[in-house]
Amino acid sequence: MVVGAGVVGLSIAFHLAQRGASVTVLDRAGIGAGASGVQPGGVRQQWGTRVNCLLARESMRFYADAPELLSMRVDPGFRACGYLFLAHSDRVFARMRENVALQNELGIRSRIVGPAEAAELVPGLEVAGVVGGAWGPEDGYFDRPQSLVEAFGALADVQIGEVVEIRDDGAVRLASGDELQADAVVVATGVDTPALLPELPISAQTRFLFFSEPIRERLLEPLIVSPERRFAAKQLGDGRVLASDLGARENDEGGRANVRSAFEELLPQLVYVALPALVPGVYDMTPDHQGILGRVRDRVWVAAGFSGHGFMLAPAVGRIIAESVSEKREDAALGVLDAGRFAEGRLMPEPQVI
Ligand SMILES: Cc1cc2nc3c(=O)[nH]c(=O)nc-3n(C[C@H](O)[C@H](O)[C@H](O)COP(=O)(O)OP(=O)(O)OC[C@H]3O[C@@H](n4cnc5c(N)ncnc54)[C@H](O)[C@@H]3O)c2cc1C
Repeated sequence: MVVGAGVVGLSIAFHLAQRGASVTVLDRAGIGAGASGVQPGGVRQQWGTRVNCLLARESMRFYADAPELLSMRVDPGFRACGYLFLAHSDRVFARMRENVALQNELGIRSRIVGPAEAAELVPGLEVAGVVGGAWGPEDGYFDRPQSLVEAFGALADVQIGEVVEIRDDGAVRLASGDELQADAVVVATGVDTPALLPELPISAQTRFLFFSEPIRERLLEPLIVSPERRFAAKQLGDGRVLASDLGARENDEGGRANVRSAFEELLPQLVYVALPALVPGVYDMTPDHQGILGRVRDRVWVAAGFSGHGFMLAPAVGRIIAESVSEKREDAALGVLDAGRFAEGRLMPEPQVI
């Protein structure tokens, strides 16, 4: 049984079913009711830890074949527009160099660029305050990211039910009072996971996405991210400009001001673009900004806490958890992202989290 019909739980169900398991997915609200229904479809391989580079690389390969693997009736519309990370200080630029060296060692085709090349890659980019950047030409966006969540969902046996307790022996109690018994239970309930597994350090952080109306003219290509300005922006395939405030905020006002000031500093061509649509969402954060994966009790596994990047890692996570549950095979990632790392001081901080 899988609890949670977000992209992570559904990918786990898909990979379990591929291995011959009979799987029910329980969700209190339905497919994509959590963060998976909000995320705008960004996928990248530019990471600063080996484990994330490998998970992202495998997941991008899966997503490239997703139309066939998931029998999709809608083209999810992947565009390898590229991600350009900007550094405004020598300290951040040095860290980018280390990250790119690691990525290249793992076969990821990213590279360091200077301000002049950054300006060529992003027409209109103001580089006066830019020290350099990291460019990943294979990173990109899905035009229809929800179609992937739905396609996973269409292949799963999804039932509506709120789980209120999971016992070590695989017994699951629902809010309705019913009890179910499973050989194995995988908890993939995102930010709500501590309600079922209170020992896990997952906390909520609200984030805001700002959208313009569709604009026919192409104003921004490719995606840019400034970790130091807590800002990312992209013009989507349908013409809408998406600007993300990457700071944790109480409300959208600070986020809107931050986006405006980043437009003024970096993308003057966007200063007059109105951003009337606001989409709030919640990140499920862990202390090292990495997901928590693997077995936590006798018949209970977890896959949660993806700290803002679970969509792009979901295919590899699904494969790894399914192998652990059904074949007792432990991928190396489980030795790094296990729940025990917090108590044992083995944190794996991801430096390229946004
Ligand atoms: C604004 C925003 C932008 C993002 N952008 C990106 C991006 O570009 N790329 C990327 O890779 N990631 C992105 N993310 C992160 C990504 O959306 C998440 O990491 C991912 O969707 C997590 O999936 P999940 O299945 O773990 O959790 P969720 O999608 O949150 O699913 C959890 C499910 O569990 C269910 N549930 C909870 N408690 C119970 C219970 N007790 N009983 C039954 N069901 C329960 C909920 O109803 C929900 O459907 C973004 C997130 C946000 C908020």
